[in-house]
Amino acid sequence: MSEEIISHGRILIAEDDPISRRMLQSFLAKWGYEVEVVADGVEALAALEQPNAPQLAVLDWMMPGLEGPQVCQRVRRLTDRPYTYILLLTARGQKDDLLRGLASGADDYLTKPFDSQELRARLRVGERILELERNLIVAREELRFRATHDVLTGIPNRASVLEATQRECSRQAREGGAFSVIILDLDHFKSINDTYGHLCGDQVLREAAHRVTASVRTYDSVGRYGGEEFLVVAPTTDGQGALALAERVRQAIEESPIETEAGPIRVTASCGVASKIDAETFSSSALLKLADEALYRAKALGRNRSESAATSGVRAVEVGAAGIERVSAKS
Ligand SMILES: [Mg+2]
Repeated sequence: MSEEIISHGRILIAEDDPISRRMLQSFLAKWGYEVEVVADGVEALAALEQPNAPQLAVLDWMMPGLEGPQVCQRVRRLTDRPYTYILLLTARGQKDDLLRGLASGADDYLTKPFDSQELRARLRVGERILELERNLIVAREELRFRATHDVLTGIPNRASVLEATQRECSRQAREGGAFSVIILDLDHFKSINDTYGHLCGDQVLREAAHRVTASVRTYDSVGRYGGEEFLVVAPTTDGQGALALAERVRQAIEESPIETEAGPIRVTASCGVASKIDAETFSSSALLKLADEALYRAKALGRNRSESAATSGVRAVEVGAAGIERVSAKS
């Protein structure tokens, strides 16, 4: 056969018989596999339990330590990794044995003495299945990304950032400390769309998302909350810290004009900040409502500024919007 050697990736051989082992090794190497070899079942299991184990394995049935089917069973219990395709080699031809081998989790079997071309063909089947599985994983990850991220800006979407808010809210209720949210809204965004068109509007949103994300801390979450609204979830951050963070984010938007196909556009943003400390028990939606009210005030007071809800959230909830006080504003 004059087929060119192509790389097939890594494969594990577990075979206690030295002659059979060497034969397998030389065939597989010749066919372009990167071969790892072990001589018993215990070593085979150890090799397959490695985080970056080969996904293709040829296991002899009868081996010291653990037999092939036992190794299969143990490998199938590992659920935190990609699939391992396992081919059992057996000297036993009896049907009951084969059924037992397959029931243990093997994908295929070959009876010794085996035909090398048949082994090669069956390993290709294994590779096809692994390839299908890899494609499925990629597709699933893509779907997951699309379900949790905003298509335009690439940052987490509303549902996703709301989930982060709820999660952080529960954590804070459990562990105490502080927790803040910031709602940032681009000022006069509608007029950007109206004046320069939606394409430019989209460019502004993308760059704004980028600037917000780049100016928060690694442990903060950012998501697109609405059309031109972004939500920042700031764990273990009190009102003062959150206001400082809001100002940093706001300044990052204001700092330099955003490049668009219609030329640079100067954009500003307003921020509403709300915090929850220690034993305050109100919900994440109540907190968001406070931040929204603070944002409304920032808009009313002239935009391009950050406003905080009252420091005591409980009081603010009790007294409603009237309880929101101007803790600090842009100096
Ligand atoms: Mg053996």
